Amino acid sequence: MIHIGCHLSISKGFAAMGNEMLSMGGDTFAFFTRNPRGGRVKELDSADVEALNVFLREHAFAALVAHAPYTMNLCSDKDRAREYAEECFSEDLGKMEMLPGNFFNFHPGNSLKQDREACIDRIAEILNRYITPDQSTTVLLETMAGKGTEIGRTFEEIRSILDRVDEDKRARVGVCFDTCHVWDAGYDIVGDLDGVLAEFDRIIGLHNLKAVHLNDSKNTCGSHKDRHEKLGEGCIGEEALRRVVTHPLLDGRPFILETPNERAGYVKEIAEVRGWEKNAERYR
Ligand code: FE
Ligand code: FE
Ligand code: ZN
Repeated sequence: MIHIGCHLSISKGFAAMGNEMLSMGGDTFAFFTRNPRGGRVKELDSADVEALNVFLREHAFAALVAHAPYTMNLCSDKDRAREYAEECFSEDLGKMEMLPGNFFNFHPGNSLKQDREACIDRIAEILNRYITPDQSTTVLLETMAGKGTEIGRTFEEIRSILDRVDEDKRARVGVCFDTCHVWDAGYDIVGDLDGVLAEFDRIIGLHNLKAVHLNDSKNTCGSHKDRHEKLGEGCIGEEALRRVVTHPLLDGRPFILETPNERAGYVKEIAEVRGWEKNAERYR
């Protein structure tokens, strides 16, 4: 079965997100581990978190794909920004252990005016400092569109971060495949999805692909723009997204919508994706 959901607001608490996603027809979701614009971090209500844990089990949800704030740049050239990012990573990763067995996804970073190799070293250094071999959370590096100086714009860059992770922590790190980002980065998932997945497998390994961000894109392949579009309304288009959703090599992964939608739009897209699954044979 396909696991599908979207980003939800954490404003009403953890248990409320579970109920909300069930009512929207999904069985996984994403949420920001803190306000991306900074500000004070709320103390977690452990009873509320535990209620969500029970709910997820009862309703057989797939793993959640929590998202670190966009402002978290582990390899910033500014000391304060880097310290904030490190604190953010360690605190939010720690909190994820209250929701055992889920994913914590983040944007690898922006190199700004620095050497990219040095940034890759720095990102891996932070992963090695805070990930423990016995944690239940899997940390995901998101594939990026290559806007500005983003790290993670090629499969090779993601691979080079993974290569620097300590052996005993490697199983706790994976990759989140964002369809809008890989397309914008120059991987032609419309013309040659099989080829892109083969390349991913060769460079990173498909066993490391743990989750998918399912988005259409407002721009052409290789544009390096990162502007998401509703499913079927962008340059990737419905047919290619159908092939992603029903691709046997991506079977079992949680698919998270990050399309520009309000609640009703997400409900519609979740139903659409479930429909694609039902008719999958016709689209092979
Ligand atoms: Fe993201
Ligand atoms: Fe994404
Ligand atoms: Zn994006």
